[in-house]
Amino acid sequence: MALIVQKYGGSSVADADKIRRVAQRIAATKEKGNRVVVVVSAMGNTTNNLIRLAQQITSEPDERELDVLLSTGELVSCTLMAMALRALWYDAVSLTGAQAGIQTDNSHSRGRIARVDPQRILREIDAGKIVIVAGFQGMTSGSTLEADTTTLGRGGSDTTAVALAIALKADACEIYTDVEGVYTADPRLVPEAVKLKEIGYEEMLELASYGSKVMHNRAVELGEAYNMPILVASSFLEAPGTLIHGGVPMEIRNKVRGIAQDLNVAKITVLGIPDKPGVAAQIFQPLADGGISVDTIVQNASINNLADLTFTVARTDLAKALRVVEPVAKSLGAREVASDSRLGKVSIVGTGMQNTPGYAARMFTTLFKEDINIQLITTAEIRITCIVDEALVPKAVRALHKAFELDKLAV
Ligand code: ASP
Ligand code: MG
Repeated sequence: MALIVQKYGGSSVADADKIRRVAQRIAATKEKGNRVVVVVSAMGNTTNNLIRLAQQITSEPDERELDVLLSTGELVSCTLMAMALRALWYDAVSLTGAQAGIQTDNSHSRGRIARVDPQRILREIDAGKIVIVAGFQGMTSGSTLEADTTTLGRGGSDTTAVALAIALKADACEIYTDVEGVYTADPRLVPEAVKLKEIGYEEMLELASYGSKVMHNRAVELGEAYNMPILVASSFLEAPGTLIHGGVPMEIRNKVRGIAQDLNVAKITVLGIPDKPGVAAQIFQPLADGGISVDTIVQNASINNLADLTFTVARTDLAKALRVVEPVAKSLGAREVASDSRLGKVSIVGTGMQNTPGYAARMFTTLFKEDINIQLITTAEIRITCIVDEALVPKAVRALHKAFELDKLAV
């Protein structure tokens, strides 16, 4: 009997009708003779609404309390799903992340899974039950005297599903969502975007980390580390999705595979800082201590021993980052701190660009022809990212999709 882990996203369980429809699909999977474990996200916009509610109480909600609050979203959907299955005469049981054995580190709102103890799930499936697990949450280690609920970061239910699939040695890990799979670009932006039949872990990881909303990047990272293939498919249609795995044939790899965009970008520039050892450390250490992740960093060559340092952070972290950087910049004798929050990132991704010249030039020429000014550039082995004005991002994505002939990609 195969063991299948399925995950259904928030839009797939957004109301009672949708929950009933998903329950039918889960029942059909069980009917085929499989053992089934299902992970669900919170219904529709529940998580956003809970965050908004907390912010109506206080602008800086306590992170421990916030995690418990947010974890309730998934409890609602997983209990309702178990009820929907029981109404169809299937034996189903809902479990919290903690009951499912998801143990995390102590970092609230971005908990990392330390280990999974699948005993309880195994006992339930051995008893013939369909197990429905609340995604996006775990519990810190320790006795009940000290253990606390954590959440895994926005979009974290994907990571719950992949972690469970690995711990249970599942035969398949299937992520069901409101899109039909992974596309060469966001189809809402580029109507000619092509659905990929398969994509390698590394490429998917770059796309997910640079703005593709299809999957949580840490889920892809886990899949790669434990070589667990992940299917992304539609929860509404019976259509073949995209398989993320490690065995994509060479010829398919030898190309640009996708374009991602991210509008959650802000830039901070510290102007006129004395150019001497330790300055960068003094600026970035407090940012790291504050849990703010910094992405692109550029420092120009100094003139008269004064340098400018530019870096990007998530737009949602800008206010916090400025609160950290401004006093440090002042104490270092910098002239000014400037910021811009209306930026976006556009990235091309593909293993084909590794050690092959010409991709960067083609990207820059394409943007130039569209009269798009590039503000910052970063490159990785299989990715090139340009930071541009946020308003120009859609135009940039469309032009790059055409320039790299992704509409003609043989998937
Ligand atoms: N409900 C959580 C969120 O909205 C987790 C998830 O959907 O994966 O981020
Ligand atoms: Mg998601």
